[in-house]
Amino acid sequence: MRARVFSGMQPSGNLHIGNYLGALKNWVRVQADYECIFCIVDLHAVTIYQDPAELRAKIIEIAALYLAAGIDPRQSSIMVQSAVPAHAELAWMLTCVTPVGWLERMTQYKAKAAAQQTIGDGLLQYPVLMAADIMLYQAAIVPVGEDQAQHLELTRDIAQRFNSLYGDTFVVPQTSLPSVGARIMGLDDPTVKMSKSAAGAGHAVGLLDPPDKIRKTIMRATTDSNPAVDFGAPGPGVANLLNIHQAFSCWGDDRMRAHFTGMRYGDLKKQVAEMVIAHLEPFQQRYREITSEPGYVARVLREGAERVAPIANSTVELVKRRMGLYTETR
Ligand code: ATP
Ligand code: MG
Repeated sequence: MRARVFSGMQPSGNLHIGNYLGALKNWVRVQADYECIFCIVDLHAVTIYQDPAELRAKIIEIAALYLAAGIDPRQSSIMVQSAVPAHAELAWMLTCVTPVGWLERMTQYKAKAAAQQTIGDGLLQYPVLMAADIMLYQAAIVPVGEDQAQHLELTRDIAQRFNSLYGDTFVVPQTSLPSVGARIMGLDDPTVKMSKSAAGAGHAVGLLDPPDKIRKTIMRATTDSNPAVDFGAPGPGVANLLNIHQAFSCWGDDRMRAHFTGMRYGDLKKQVAEMVIAHLEPFQQRYREITSEPGYVARVLREGAERVAPIANSTVELVKRRMGLYTETR
C-alpha cells in the first residue's frame, strides 16, 4: 500500500505564487508516488469572516487551480472539507485532548488574532481542525509551506497524546517542505510572508494575474539601497526575488550566482517577472479550459468526496470505540 499524503488550501482569497511554490507545485510532484488527498479547506476559511457568495465561488476556483497546476483527479482525490462531515466530528474529539496552552502559543493564531476586533473561537481551534484533517486519513506525509511547520508539530503532539491516552490509533505525520520556495515573502514588505489575506495591491502575484499586472507588481517590489545583486549579503527583498526565480527556474545555486551576481535590481526584476510569466501563462490557459467545461469541477469534487468519505468515517468509528463513545458496533 502506498503511503497517504494530505494537504489543503483555504478558499480565503486569491491563490498566489507563494501557495504554488510552497505547496501546490510539490503536490503535483508527489502524486504519482503516494495516495494523495488534496482538500479545499472551507471550514478553515470561515475562522475569519468570508462573504458567502465569494466563498462559494472561491471553492470552485481553487479546485480548478489544483487541476490547472496538474493534479490529476484520476490519480488523486480533490475534495472540499465541509463535504465530509467527519472532519468537524474528529476535530471535536481532538479538541478534548488538546491543552489550550498549546494553541495559544501558535504564531499564526497570535498574528491573525491581532488583526481582529473580536476573535472567534475557531481561530484558536484552527490547528486542531487541521490536525483532524490530516489524522482522519492517517496521512503519513503533509507537503506544506514553512509557515505551517508549527501547526504540523502540534498535529504530531496531538496524535501522540491521543495514542498515549487511548492506545495506538493514529499515524504520526511527517512534514514535507520544499528545499526552495518554502517561504515566499511579500513583495511590498519582504519581512512578512506572502498571504492571500494580506490586502495591499503590491503584496502578491496571483496565479491568475495577467502578465502586465505581474510585471508591474514585481517591478515595484521593495529592494534596498544597494545598486546590484551581492550574494554575500542580499537584503530580504532581493533574496526573495532570487528565491522566486530559483523556485520557478529550478536553477542550481552555482548557476544562480554566476547569472545574477552584480546584476542591477531593475534587470533582476525584469528577469524574475519574465520567468514567473513564462510559468503562469500555460497554467492560466489550462485554467480557462477547465472552467469552460460546465459541471466538470463540481463532478471532480463530488467524486473526490465519495472516494475519501469511507476512509474518514472508518477513522471516526475507530476513535469513537477507542474513546468509549456510543457506537452500534463494538
Ligand atoms: P491566508 O492569508 O488566508 O492564511 P495563505 O496565503 O497563508 O492564506 P493558506 O491557505 O493558509 O494560504 O495556505 C495554503 C498553503 O500555502 C500552505 O501549505 C501554506 O504553508 C502555503 N503557503 C502560504 N503562504 C506561503 C508563502 N508565502 N510561501 C510558501 N508557502 C506558503
Ligand atoms: Mg495561511
